[in-house]
Amino acid sequence: MMDLAFTDEQVALRSEAHTFSESLRPLLVADPEWQRQGMLSDGDSKEVTRELGRAGWIGMTWRRDIGGRGLSHVDAALVEDMFGYHWLPLSLYLLSYKTIGCAIERFGSPELKERLLPPIARGELTFCQGFSEPGAGSDLASLTSRAVRRGNRFVVHGHKIWTSSAWLADWIYLAVRTSSRATRHRGISVLVAPIDTPGIEVRRFPVLGGGYLCEVFLDGVEVEAANLVGELGRGWEVVMHTLDFERITAEKLGGLAWILDGLERRLAETDRLEQAWRRIGALRGELAGARLLSLRAADLLDRGEPAAAASAMAKLAGARLAQRLAREAIDLLGLEGLSDGDLTAPLEGRVGGLYRASIGSTISGGSAEILQIVIARRGLGLR
Ligand SMILES: Cc1cc2nc3c(=O)[nH]c(=O)nc-3n(C[C@H](O)[C@H](O)[C@H](O)COP(=O)(O)OP(=O)(O)OC[C@H]3O[C@@H](n4cnc5c(N)ncnc54)[C@H](O)[C@@H]3O)c2cc1C
Repeated sequence: MMDLAFTDEQVALRSEAHTFSESLRPLLVADPEWQRQGMLSDGDSKEVTRELGRAGWIGMTWRRDIGGRGLSHVDAALVEDMFGYHWLPLSLYLLSYKTIGCAIERFGSPELKERLLPPIARGELTFCQGFSEPGAGSDLASLTSRAVRRGNRFVVHGHKIWTSSAWLADWIYLAVRTSSRATRHRGISVLVAPIDTPGIEVRRFPVLGGGYLCEVFLDGVEVEAANLVGELGRGWEVVMHTLDFERITAEKLGGLAWILDGLERRLAETDRLEQAWRRIGALRGELAGARLLSLRAADLLDRGEPAAAASAMAKLAGARLAQRLAREAIDLLGLEGLSDGDLTAPLEGRVGGLYRASIGSTISGGSAEILQIVIARRGLGLR
């Protein structure tokens, strides 16, 4: 990672992130869920989110007066890469700050920002993201959850699915239809609501890579009109930008770097590196490429330039590398690679979990096919 020309401040920032991550190790080791975490940084932990908030890591890119540190998105990506290298469970951090918090910072009303961003930055307010529905994933604009305005409230009915961290989050960020007369994209709005609002029911279920996803049922949920993010009926733009933030997955690449370092070390210890160096070299090259794509997308966000195609490229490169690295590691390590959830095993027993979890990496946050469409249309201008 440090072969790029980073500033002294960025090197110091990564070192600070490394020391902080090490300090969390006793907390992580005591958590049986973390030991089984195969999902790179996607583990759920409120405790770790609070520690991140206390140490000033949440909202790094925000202004100081709302709890931020005034850093750039490139700085944040470098820090998150380091957090990923230590396998911090970051799902709530990523949703609350990097994805939803950054979208609220960009599109929210001044009042909404003042109310929500400081507690997010302190790690005291966490979010989940209710976009996908049973009939609307890749084609998100076909969503049918609807909100009807009644006085100073919206009343919401609908059904969300695959909602990460909803069983732990304090609030939910919802894409809903507010007009059936407008075109598909123009009739969508984004609302935020406390997850314990009457009418919201969360059901969690276990998933392949360890941990859980949730279904969220919305039955007559009353949401204050002031909790609208962006303009009424213009939520599609908010949703698209939210995904740009989500798709810079620097933290996943940090986790893959840890796997690759561990794999190389284990092969060297057992005299197998000689035969594997070509394969390790190819993986190292792909990792360097994915990290550059992720930093490029972060840089575009810093410059205020369109980042949709760049963040889609970064996400796709990282997701495909996760799958390839997991397959290669199992192939090279043999049975050792399958010792799941055992911290004393080679690579802390994480390769089997990564193999299972990485299947979802080319689905979540936009499937590989959809990302290719984004790159073709928004990056290359193809129709
Ligand atoms: C681990 C994980 C976490 C997730 N977390 C969240 C979350 O927190 N919040 C949330 O809202 N959602 C979440 N999701 C849902 C995710 O966003 C959707 O699964 C994804 O967008 C795909 O939608 P779908 O499952 O409905 O599949 P579909 O849209 O039905 O797609 C099925 C297949 O068809 C392909 N396909 C669809 N349309 C096209 C097309 N036009 N051209 C070519 N191929 C196409 C897709 O690529 C895919 O392979 C999560 C998913 C996973 C796996």
